[in-house]
Amino acid sequence: MALVVQKYGGTSVGTTERIRAVASKIICYRKKGHDLVIVVSAMSGETNRLIGLANEISRQPVAREYDVLVSTGEQVTIALLSMALQECGQAARSYTGGQVRILTDDVHSKARIRNIDSSAIKRDLAAGRVTVIAGFQGVDENGNVTTLGRGGSDTTAVALAAALEADECQIFTDVDGVYTTDPRVVPEARRLSRITFEEMLEMASLGSRILQSRAVEFAGKYNVPLRVLSSFEEGEGTLISYEEAGMEQPKISGIAFNRDEAKLTIAGVPDHPGVAYRILGPIANDNLEVDMIVQNVGQDDMTDFTFTVHRNNYDKARQVLRRVATDLGAREVTGDPKIVKVSIVGVGMRSHAGIASGMFESLANEGINIQMISTSEIKISVVIDEKYLELAVRALHEKFELEQE
Ligand code: ASP
Ligand code: MG
Repeated sequence: MALVVQKYGGTSVGTTERIRAVASKIICYRKKGHDLVIVVSAMSGETNRLIGLANEISRQPVAREYDVLVSTGEQVTIALLSMALQECGQAARSYTGGQVRILTDDVHSKARIRNIDSSAIKRDLAAGRVTVIAGFQGVDENGNVTTLGRGGSDTTAVALAAALEADECQIFTDVDGVYTTDPRVVPEARRLSRITFEEMLEMASLGSRILQSRAVEFAGKYNVPLRVLSSFEEGEGTLISYEEAGMEQPKISGIAFNRDEAKLTIAGVPDHPGVAYRILGPIANDNLEVDMIVQNVGQDDMTDFTFTVHRNNYDKARQVLRRVATDLGAREVTGDPKIVKVSIVGVGMRSHAGIASGMFESLANEGINIQMISTSEIKISVVIDEKYLELAVRALHEKFELEQE
């Protein structure tokens, strides 16, 4: 008998009908003999509705009260799902984060889980009850309600799976797994049966918004096998786990892209120690997250700097950079908010040569100009004009034969 933590996302519990369907699914799993701990999100749209209410009252709600409010969505779902299970004759019990005692730090709206008291859950499991736990929330040391950041129910599920040493953590969502790339861009995109934690982290942070990145990180750290599955269709989904020794890895597992990027260049700055810090320090101080950074080889004691930021932060970052440019006596600040990042990801890259040149060749064949390049051990990213995004992703998908198993 396996212990499985299952998480059902907002669309999976979006109506009472769907909640009933989830209850039947859970009962089927129970019949296979599994012990089940269920984590749920708020019904779809509910968290946004609550945030909207807060904003009607206050432009900047006090963080403590904001968390008291936005955590209520999940409380509705745990009660409804427990009722649905009980209606079908399955003993069940709901818990808020505070009732379990999911202890977090006190950073409201993006709290981190510190400790989970699993004793009540274990008692329920031993008594044959299914436990239904509110995702996305916890309490700090003083009993204040905290929330874990948008999409945080994934992290709740993984943390519970780690605490309970569950055999698997299953994330039920509206897609049936992790794909080689977004099927809306490449219809031939294929569901991956397996992917490693490292690859998934790259895919998630590069814009394949299936799982909260923090959940993947957590799962990797505690070695919790994570499976993404559809709540609406039968299937094996995608298993995210560690690389298995001796298993042949494909060169490339997937192609991720991010449409929300913008790039900024500060040209003609002194090529001296401390200049990178004087440029990027003020950007960081304004909490503007920087992604790729490129510094050119200096010439005549001068150099250029280019970096990318989230498109929403473009104007703000440009303002900061203009001030820096004046201080440093830089030649000019230029930028382009219409760029995208496309990345090929795969642990197989480590043991195969020529992946980067293959990528550049296929972009060249399409006449796509590469504006920036960055690499890590398991990914190669390029920045290109946004109008070539679809073309680039399709060309790369074909080049690396991702449609084939
Ligand atoms: N309901 C929360 C959100 O929408 C948490 C979650 O769904 O994971 O972000
Ligand atoms: Mg989600």
